[in-house]
Amino acid sequence: MIRTALITGITGQDGYYLSRLLLEKGYRVIGLVAPQRRNNIVKLGNLIEQIEIYPVALTDAVALLEVVEQFRPDEIYNLAAPSFVPDSWNDPLGTLDLITGSATRLLAAIHQLGLTTRVFEASSSEMFGQVDHAPQDENTPFRPMNPYAAAKLHAHWMMVHHRQRYGLFACSGILYNHESPLRLPNFVTRKVSLAAASIKLGLSDRLEMGNLQAKRDWGYAGDYVEAIWRMLQTNTPEDYVIGTGQLHSVQNLVETAFGCLDLDWTRYVSIDSKFIRSDEHFQLVANPAKAKRDLGWQPQMTFAKLIEEMVLTDLDRLRSGLIAPAVPQQP
Ligand code: GDP
Repeated sequence: MIRTALITGITGQDGYYLSRLLLEKGYRVIGLVAPQRRNNIVKLGNLIEQIEIYPVALTDAVALLEVVEQFRPDEIYNLAAPSFVPDSWNDPLGTLDLITGSATRLLAAIHQLGLTTRVFEASSSEMFGQVDHAPQDENTPFRPMNPYAAAKLHAHWMMVHHRQRYGLFACSGILYNHESPLRLPNFVTRKVSLAAASIKLGLSDRLEMGNLQAKRDWGYAGDYVEAIWRMLQTNTPEDYVIGTGQLHSVQNLVETAFGCLDLDWTRYVSIDSKFIRSDEHFQLVANPAKAKRDLGWQPQMTFAKLIEEMVLTDLDRLRSGLIAPAVPQQP
């Protein structure tokens, strides 16, 4: 029996890796894209032929209900979200509607149709926010510090409430930062990999950064979608913290990326205050013990290998003219 998975946010980084995993496992994959961003489906590259794509606005409850009714998916993966945290201050209400509203509309559709669909919500380590201890696990209190994190937390609770009240198989993965060569260049890992590759090829000569002492728990998106899939294959729906348990500083990231190309980062990197954020904490690091115990999951990719893969991919893309070199950006 072929299983059907519906993925929101299919054209994002995680959408790509999750689709690839599900297709390998023989799933029928239905992908939803925002109608105004239909062109983004090119990002699915060689997978595009195998995925059924539907333009559906996640703000449109009727359209969502219809698509869920039409396909009656075995599994729904809700990955869609405006994911660049600083942007959420520009439109807090829009962020809430897209993140919390969409999750709630999906849950309502499953409940209203009386389906047994299993649903995954991409929750975020940002929900922990102002932490007073590290590492964090499933019992750590949430203290979100920005509209993105508050919206993610609200969606997270919606999953919990629908699970408890209606018995839906609804789970959240509290995902720490996860990267890949598909990460957008406004995120720090890709910003650095692209800049290092551009400098190596003589296409750029500087990189302006924010706080080099900022720290993150960075993992590989390809590993995280495996955890996401496993969460929906268990006997009981539960939430899991998904991260590597390792903290690295932004400086460490820069050293690693430039080091792959035998470049001395101190010659090129300067600090620009416009990239420094006033409202963040640097102790967001996962304790993924529950995922290891219950899902048999642990990350396979090391930090150094991940950064090397990102840098070398950018080098190849620049050499073949597939992308433009790094240019100084707005935060
Ligand atoms: P986030 O954790 O989802 O906000 O992911 P980012 O990749 O945007 O940022 C990761 C960390 O890198 C944060 O602590 C930033 O403050 C820090 N950082 C330092 N310099 C930069 C920079 O130039 N750009 C970005 N995006 N982040 C930077």
